[in-house]
Amino acid sequence: MKKILNFIGGDFREPVSGNYLDNFNPSTGEVYSLIPDSDKRDVDLAVKAAQDAFPEWSALVNEERSSFLRQISEGILSSLEDLAVSETTDNGKPLWLSRSVDIPRSSSNFRFFADATTQFASESHEMRDTAINYTLRQPLGVVGCISPWNLPLYLFTWKIAPALATGNTVVAKPSEVTPMTAYLLSKIVKEIGLPPGVLNIVHGNGPGAGEAIVTHDDVKAVSFTGGTSTGQRIAKAVAPHFKKVSLELGGKNPNIIFNDCNFNEALKSTMKSSFANQGQICLCGSRVLIQTGIYEQFRDALVERAEKTRVGDPMLPETSMGALVSEDHLNKVLEHVKIAEKEGGNVLCGGDRVKPAGRCKNGFFMRPTVIEGLSPECRTNQEEIFGPVVTLIPFETEEDALQIANESNYGLAATLWTSDVSRAHRMSSRLQFGIVWVNCWLLRDLRTPFGGMKNSGLGREGGWEAMRFFTEPKNVCIKWG
Ligand code: NDP
Repeated sequence: MKKILNFIGGDFREPVSGNYLDNFNPSTGEVYSLIPDSDKRDVDLAVKAAQDAFPEWSALVNEERSSFLRQISEGILSSLEDLAVSETTDNGKPLWLSRSVDIPRSSSNFRFFADATTQFASESHEMRDTAINYTLRQPLGVVGCISPWNLPLYLFTWKIAPALATGNTVVAKPSEVTPMTAYLLSKIVKEIGLPPGVLNIVHGNGPGAGEAIVTHDDVKAVSFTGGTSTGQRIAKAVAPHFKKVSLELGGKNPNIIFNDCNFNEALKSTMKSSFANQGQICLCGSRVLIQTGIYEQFRDALVERAEKTRVGDPMLPETSMGALVSEDHLNKVLEHVKIAEKEGGNVLCGGDRVKPAGRCKNGFFMRPTVIEGLSPECRTNQEEIFGPVVTLIPFETEEDALQIANESNYGLAATLWTSDVSRAHRMSSRLQFGIVWVNCWLLRDLRTPFGGMKNSGLGREGGWEAMRFFTEPKNVCIKWG
């Protein structure tokens, strides 16, 4: 059985405990590799290696750091096929998606921040005839990066790249559910000759390895993406240490469709924002708000398309939806459908497990699910489900749509479909979400601030936001002579 190893101080290492966890292929339900069950002792070693590497790494000129990041970006592209197959095996997402989105974007993350490090600048504030202030932005030291299972390498690299670009050294933990591409990344990093200890990858579960990173005295900042309850736990753990923390958490995103939308575009995009990656993207629009003038027409067209979706072996090119990430997660999503039914919801399609024939017969598959007839404030419309399940909510006016959309503890992303540009501006400024897409979804420019309001997080990632997060600003005030 293939064994994943920790990557600490430039070496591949067994966990100190000698214990391993099972790693499942969600498409077949079989264990196919073993993951180190790391604990505080492994994290201590990784932090020590990162501390030892910090003086030299932080002293490099920006072009040198940029060159290392660029080489990692190229290394990812040269291993694209291997990484894509591994991502699909580990996560269950269609291979075409890993090939076209997850792995290319992981490479872009390193390329983008390789460029950013050569362009990053700080401010100066002149006090005329008196003094000049300038801001130094210095690396923090050792930082912790913790990522979830839904976009494994994509989100892992989205944190590591800016942390390294700004001169920090890193101890990172991927989700125990999808560790394989992080392991392959450590091989790439070794191959390109990144100095030992600059990037350390410790595998294991959240309460063990994750918590040991977050609470370590010498980890100066934590960048976390995951569920809101884990985020709350991390916020509590770091508070007494006054560590910098960035939290990208859950969402319950509204997808608001007006009568005057481009119907076909809105429909095509709603299929994606509802079911891409089996609905396991924090940005998926799980509450579909439709204006009453087109409600029935839109509902019927969406259900017709959802019913035609091919669910099955993610390795096949014709598959639209692969497996959910684990049996536990599948059961959680199915349980939510039962809750929706109890709340009076009418399941228009899906709602059940799929057992494809052949090698995937024991995999964790589910049909795309559309539910209507629920009140905006019920559990189904308030709790994050994080699976291929959407609810349809009719609305009359712009005010109604705003009220329903904002009536949520979450505030990650909203999508608007309208041909009225004034309405687009009006709504965008009043929607309580960190990201608003108008007539598009998941169109990403890596320079833009990324993150959510309310229970969807704290702080922003992306572009200068990330570069600022991973640096400490220091003001220097020099009086004129
Ligand atoms: P979790 O919160 O369960 O886990 C996220 C990461 O945190 C994993 O690596 C996990 O390890 C680790 N972890 C768990 N407990 C602790 C702890 N006490 N201390 C430190 N680390 C810990 O989230 P999921 O992996 O289930 O991911 C799904 C969630 O992520 C959804 O809520 C989704 O909305 C959110 N998400 C948010 C995004 C955003 O940008 N806002 C983007 C993508 C997802 P392990 O898995 O090994 O237990």
